[in-house]
Amino acid sequence: MQAVSLSNQVNTASVAGIAPKIRQLKTFFTSGKTKALVWRIEQLKQIRKMVLEQQDEIFVAMRQDLGRCNMESWTAELGGVISEVDHSLKHLKKWVKPRKVATPIIAQPGKSYILPEPLGTILIIGAWNYPLLLVLSPLISAVSAGNNALIKPSELSANVSKLLAKLIPQYLDNDAFAVVEGAFDETTELLKHQCEHISYTGGEVVGKIVMRAAAEFLTPVTLELGGKSPCIVDSSTDLEVTAARIVWSKWMNAGQTCVAPDYVLVEKSFAPQLIDAIKNKLTDFYTVDAANSQDYGRIVSERHFLRVISYLDGQDIVHGGKHDITNKYIEPTVVLNPDHDSPLMQQEIFGPILPIVTVTSIDQSISFVNQRAKPLALYLFGKNKDFEQQVLTSTSAGMVCINDGFMFAANPNLPFGGVGNSGTGAYHGKIGFDNFSHLKTVMKRSFWFDVPLRYPPFTAKKFKLLKKLI
Ligand code: NAD
Repeated sequence: MQAVSLSNQVNTASVAGIAPKIRQLKTFFTSGKTKALVWRIEQLKQIRKMVLEQQDEIFVAMRQDLGRCNMESWTAELGGVISEVDHSLKHLKKWVKPRKVATPIIAQPGKSYILPEPLGTILIIGAWNYPLLLVLSPLISAVSAGNNALIKPSELSANVSKLLAKLIPQYLDNDAFAVVEGAFDETTELLKHQCEHISYTGGEVVGKIVMRAAAEFLTPVTLELGGKSPCIVDSSTDLEVTAARIVWSKWMNAGQTCVAPDYVLVEKSFAPQLIDAIKNKLTDFYTVDAANSQDYGRIVSERHFLRVISYLDGQDIVHGGKHDITNKYIEPTVVLNPDHDSPLMQQEIFGPILPIVTVTSIDQSISFVNQRAKPLALYLFGKNKDFEQQVLTSTSAGMVCINDGFMFAANPNLPFGGVGNSGTGAYHGKIGFDNFSHLKTVMKRSFWFDVPLRYPPFTAKKFKLLKKLI
C-alpha cells in the first residue's frame, strides 16, 4: 500500500481546487509513467487489494446508502470489480501488443499494424445505484489502457463516495488519480476543463449536458445511460425458471438497476400464470412481508422514493404497493396493463415496480418495442427459436439476454453499453481497453523497391495500371 500524502488527498470538495488538480493529473500523464505495463498491472492489483481488504467497510457504506445486503453488494459490485480486474490482468499483455493487419499490394513492401495508445486523463462520473462498480469498472478499463483518471462518484450514494475519496488515495498512485466529491457545482466545474475522455454513467438529461460540455473540447465520451428495458415472455417458456430470473433481475437493489427489466410484454392468455409465478417467487425470495427481509434494499433518497411511488397513481396494482417514506421502503409491486401514456410507461421506472403489459399475440411485442427509444437491455424468455430470431433481427437494444436477466454483465468478453438514447461506447474486458485507447494506425514501408507508378508526371499507361491495383 502506498504512503498517504495528505497534500495529495485532494477530496476536492472545493470547486476552486478542481482546475489545479486536473492540471496536475494531465502533467503527470505526460511523464509517460502510466504507459508502463508494470505500472498498469500494479494499479490493477491495488484496486483488487482495496476491494478485498476494505470489503467490510464497503458493505457498511452500501447498506447505509441503499439498504443493501452484503451478498447482493458482492454479486452486483465487489465481485464484478474483482473479476474485471482478474480478466484484465490475465489478458493485458496481449491487449497492449501491436495488432498486425494485412497490407495491400499497393503498399508493398510494407507492414501495417494497429498500436493501442492511452488517451490521457479520463474523467469518470459515476451514478449512485452501483456506486463502487460504476466508477471502478470504467477505471479498470482506463488504467488497463494506460490512462490516469479523475473520479467523481455520485453524491446520492454519499457514504460510498466518501469511502472512495478516502481509499483511492491510500491504494492507488496518488499522483495519477484523484477523487472529487460533490454534486452539481463540482461536476459543472469539472466539465469546464479539458480531459481526454469522459466516461459518464447516469440519466439521459445529464448525459446531454456532459456531451454538450465535451463538444467544446471535442472530447470523446462514453455515455452509460438507461431507459426502459423490455422483457418479452413467450408462453413457450419454462414458467418457474423465468419467474425466478425476472424477480432476481427486477428486484435486486430494489429495482434500481439500469438493466433491470422495466416492463414485461406477455400474451393476455398467459399473463395470469406468469403473474402468479412472479408473486410466488417474490414471497419465496423476500417472504410475505419484504419490509422485514434482510435481502431487500431501500430507495436511495426521498426524492427518488416520491418519484417512484407517484408512478402508482391510478394503476391496477396486482401485487404489493405498500410503502413507507421513513424507511424509503417500497414493496415489490406488480401492476397490470398500465395506460401506455402514464408516467409509469413513459419514464424509466428505476424502482421496484414491474408493469405487465398484455399483447394479443406475442409478435405484437416487437412493434411495441420498436415504437419506443432503443433500450439499454432487452430480455426474451421462451423456447420458440423462430420468435427468438425474429426478436433479435427486428429490434435494437444495447444488450440482449435470452432466457435470463442481466447475466451478460458477468461476462467480461461482452461489451456493456447502450445504443441510441441508452448510451454510446461500451466497456468491460478488451472492449473497455479499446474504448479508452486510441487505436493508432501504423504503416512501415521499406525503402527497397519504390514503384514510381503513383508519382507525376501521370500518363495514360500509369493510370490504366493504377486502376488495376486500386
Ligand atoms: P445521479 O443522480 O447519480 O447522476 C449521475 C452523475 O451525474 C452524478 O455523479 C451526478 O453528480 C452528476 N450530475 C447530476 N446532475 C448533474 C448536472 N446537472 N450537471 C452535471 N452533472 C450532474 O444518477 P442518475 O442520473 O439518477 O442515474 C440514474 C440513471 O442512470 C438511470 O437512467 C439509469 O438507468 C442510468 N444508469 C445507467 C447505467 C449504465 O451502465 N448504463 C448504470 C447505472 C445507472
